[in-house]
Amino acid sequence: MPDFIGFDSSYEKAEMVLFGAPFDGTVSFRPGARFAPEAIRKDSWGLETYSPYQDEDLETYGLSDAGDLELPFGNTAKALDMIERHVRSIVRDGKIPFMVGGEHLVTYPAVKALREKHEDICVVHFDAHADLRDEYLGEKLSHATVMRRVWETIGDGRIYQYGIRSGLRGEFEWAKRHTFLRKFSLEGFNEDCRAIGDRPVYLTVDMDVLDPSAFPGTGTPEPGGISFNELLGAIDSAGGLNVVGADVVELSPHYDQSGISTAAACKTIREMTLAILRKK
Ligand code: MN
Ligand code: MN
Repeated sequence: MPDFIGFDSSYEKAEMVLFGAPFDGTVSFRPGARFAPEAIRKDSWGLETYSPYQDEDLETYGLSDAGDLELPFGNTAKALDMIERHVRSIVRDGKIPFMVGGEHLVTYPAVKALREKHEDICVVHFDAHADLRDEYLGEKLSHATVMRRVWETIGDGRIYQYGIRSGLRGEFEWAKRHTFLRKFSLEGFNEDCRAIGDRPVYLTVDMDVLDPSAFPGTGTPEPGGISFNELLGAIDSAGGLNVVGADVVELSPHYDQSGISTAAACKTIREMTLAILRKK
């Protein structure tokens, strides 16, 4: 498998390490996110390493692609444990982990590992879905519960959510007391960035935050989403934050024969990478 474009440094020289977590064991509707890391790597070669948005180039930075974790299907707990260990080792080596999912549940072990080093970590979460259920179909570990598990790990007032337009009434009610949830759009993000300040941030982008017309390749498409340019604007703003880890999740490439969704995920990864590293 080729590396993601521009991620050609050795591990030793890298300031950021990208890896794939091809796991979709708990998806509630249409599976397929396990194929995303492979599709993203391949299609990344259609991208330039240079970003005209930020006037930055991936080649300026030490970026390494560590390949995919070989996760056991059918054993969610073990898969999550492997992700947690992997992130812990990247963090211990002083590098920023960038995970390519997979379904959204993979965010939980990544945050757990980072929380060990960064006690006051905040999570910035772009998504169509609140992902705040306590359980889903009797399961505590699901992509529909991932932010609830993250909350158990990091506590009240540390999760910032944007673009949310789907969830149970109870999730929205619960969010009022425990997270900062902004419905429908990215409004308020710049304000929130000022409130987050220098605190360490984990940035998680569930690609279904985009409108399905721009991003149909996902397991649970949700009409009424943001545009790609709006997402890019927010990523640019997130460059002002102290991002210590990031992920892009929920691309399910086979649902979009045009390939636009995979191209959008690739471009999102490039822009996130440059935004995260550009001032360090
Ligand atoms: Mn999600
Ligand atoms: Mn979602």
